[in-house]
Amino acid sequence: MNPDELSLLVKATAFAARKHKDQRRKDDASSPYINHPVYLADVLVHEGGVTDLHTIAAALLHDTIEDTETTADEIEAHFGVTVRTIVEEVSDDKSLGKRACKQMQIDRAPSLSTQARAVKLADKICNLRDVVVNPPTGWELERRQAYFDWAKEVIDGLRGEHAVLEELFDQVYAQRPGEE
Ligand code: ZN
Repeated sequence: MNPDELSLLVKATAFAARKHKDQRRKDDASSPYINHPVYLADVLVHEGGVTDLHTIAAALLHDTIEDTETTADEIEAHFGVTVRTIVEEVSDDKSLGKRACKQMQIDRAPSLSTQARAVKLADKICNLRDVVVNPPTGWELERRQAYFDWAKEVIDGLRGEHAVLEELFDQVYAQRPGEE
């Protein structure tokens, strides 16, 4: 990795940490939000074997537009247009409401770029693992099952480009709550 690439990754980590600094996950421990994007990057590199710099940077930044005040222009100014595009591809437009966002993810999955597919896979892998081991507070069995089924519908729409990540997804999906 050359110094520019290293700089981009550290900058993306620091940027995400700053943007998410006051946010917490919805689990019982109220874990720091930043754990989640860092976990995505870890899964991509160390489990998925992904080496594409822009994919890793986008994973670190993937929730900044959706969940913080960050704009797409800001991402582009700091990280370039490739990272901006990937982050935009995996961002929900929350003004649409929760239901529409969920449907939109299913509808958009088949047209995602290769890089956005990797980020989306890692996001769903991490979220399902969290639901298995450390679920959001108050999620009944039915809600956890519905979340698994929705995630699978999204992922089924983008298969064919990331065999290792798809296999990791299938492994966690096999742990769908309620199935012994
Ligand atoms: Zn996420």
